[in-house]
Formats: sequence, C-alpha cells, structure tokens
Amino acid sequence: SFHQIRKDEIEQRSHLGQGTRTNIYDGVLHIRGAAGPDADQAPYFPSEPNNNSDGRQIHVVLKVLDPNQRDIALAFFETASLMSQVSHVHLAFVHGVCVRGSENIMVEEFVEHGPLDVLLRKERGRVPVGWKITVAKQLASALSYLEDKGLVHGNVCAKNVLLARTGLGDGAVPFIKLSDPGVSFTALSREERVDRIPWIAPECIEDVGTLHPSADKWSFGTTLLEICFDADVPLKERTPAEKERFYEKKHRLPEPSCQDLAVLIQSCLSYGPAERPSFRTVLRDLTQLQPHNLVDVSSVNPDVP
Ligand code: ATP
Ligand code: MG
Repeated sequence: SFHQIRKDEIEQRSHLGQGTRTNIYDGVLHIRGAAGPDADQAPYFPSEPNNNSDGRQIHVVLKVLDPNQRDIALAFFETASLMSQVSHVHLAFVHGVCVRGSENIMVEEFVEHGPLDVLLRKERGRVPVGWKITVAKQLASALSYLEDKGLVHGNVCAKNVLLARTGLGDGAVPFIKLSDPGVSFTALSREERVDRIPWIAPECIEDVGTLHPSADKWSFGTTLLEICFDADVPLKERTPAEKERFYEKKHRLPEPSCQDLAVLIQSCLSYGPAERPSFRTVLRDLTQLQPHNLVDVSSVNPDVP
C-alpha cells in the first residue's frame, strides 16, 4: 500500500542516471493546495494578485522502472510500500508511485548533495575519521530501526546513501538519508545478484527466498569498507566468476585503513549470518568509538607550552 500520484502532478526534468532496471530523473511534485481558510478570505484582500500558486512544489527524483516486466513491477511496488510504511530521519522519503502509461515511477524526495560514493571520491584523502563514524552511526540507526520492525532493506551500499548535508564545512555535521532499495533483490537475476558482490550477503547468491535482516549487516560492513577506502570498492576489478569464487572460498575482504572500525567491520562480514552483530550492538560500538576519535582530532601537542 502506497500513495498513488497522478501523472499530471509530476514534472520530469533532467536525467540523473541509470540504476537497476531504472532511469532516474530530477523532478517536481506539484501538490495542489485544497481551498482552505486562506482561500475563503481572498475577497478581503482584493489587492493581492491571484497567481494560482496555492499548492506546493517539492523537489523529487523520479525513478522510472524499465517497462514491460510484470514481475519486476510487482517487486518495485513491494519496495514502494515498504518505504511507505517506514518513517525515520535517515531514510529517504518516498512520496508514492505514479503509473504513467506503461511506466511505473517511484517518487522520492530529492536529497540535495547526492550519493556518498561520489562525495568520497571527490574529497579523497580529506574526509576525517570522525565524519566517517558519524555517517556510519546514522546509517546504523536507520538499519537498526528497520531491524526492530523485522524489515530488510536489501540494497545497502555507498551509492544508496545520500547526503542531505555534507558536513564538510567548519564545525558542520553530515546528515545522510538511505535511499530506497529499488527492485527487490528477490526479483533480480542470478547475474544481477553476482554483480552485487561484495555488497550482497553470500547466502543471498543462491537462496533468494531468505530475506533475513542479517543480509543488511553484511552489506553494511561492505559499505563501511567503501567509506574507509574513500569509495574504493574491493573486488571491483574481478570478473563475475572470480567474485563468485571469492565467496565460495569464504575469503575475507581487505582490512580497512581505519583501525578503529576494522574489528566491527569484520564482524559484520561474517560468513555465518547468525554471527553478525545486531545493529543495536553496532550502534553501541560506534558510539563508543566516536569520543575517542574526537579527542584524537582535537588533542594538543604536549610539547607545546
Ligand atoms: P538501485 O535501485 O540499484 O540503487 P537506482 O534506480 O536507485 O538503482 P542509483 O544508481 O542508485 O539508481 O541512482 C542513480 C543516480 O541518481 C545516483 O547516482 C544519484 O545521483 C541520483 N539519485 C538517486 N536517488 C536520489 C535522491 N533521492 N536524491 C538525489 N539524487 C538521487
Ligand atoms: Mg539507488
């Protein structure tokens, strides 16, 4: 269940990119204002021009699903209704779905500063550890919220972490929103699942029936690696066959450069789903890391009088 948006309520602008069986566009959602008390009073302010702008305009992204795939459309609607059931400051808001001819369009809030991987690549080498831990905490809090509700995101990666605030200016703090997961991964082809190595949990390559919250923990671990490596992705250069073999042989992903995060990340990247910590635990561990790092950043050289 999700809000249905009429096609005349949306305006499509420039193309932003391609996703999993989708095209993303910049857009505007026009919400027509109902004639409320203000409208009733209009005759009392005859000097005010009537510009018909009694509605609101909201900056959105239009996620247009490739047409002609019925089962995929159902999986897309599933995601839309998942996102409509949830409300959390670190989850991107989904306004609803619009059916425009043969196209199904998810209408999601536009998150101003775009994806985390792009930002990390741009700012490579200049992103402080404290900033990274703040982002990790915000992501863990959104995933902890989903875990408490027994819901699985299924597509956690730096590309799907969007920045509402970059927090790279003076004294500023980043603010992230996790984007929707798109077409539910139960509907993806095996090839598409293999393509998601190393984000996809190893147990999800063969068994698509199990949508267990522990799958998000693995993806979270890989996303933290991306954050540590300033968006350098492990296994990026490998062929699909090599990636598959990596999981089959239960190899470990590389140790992150941020030593503070290394232990936590490795526990999320356990091949046994039951060995991965709960997001509540992850959040507690991250909270304990942070003050330590802030002390490091602000510590004064003892030799200076
Ligand atoms: P997937 O479901 O696999 O994540 P997708 O359809 O969401 O696929 P992405 O590759 O995640 O596609 O997004 C494509 C591009 O669209 C991103 O790189 C980003 O620039 C932009 N984008 C996506 N969602 C938003 C959003 N909510 N706000 C602003 N920009 C967005
Ligand atoms: Mg996305």
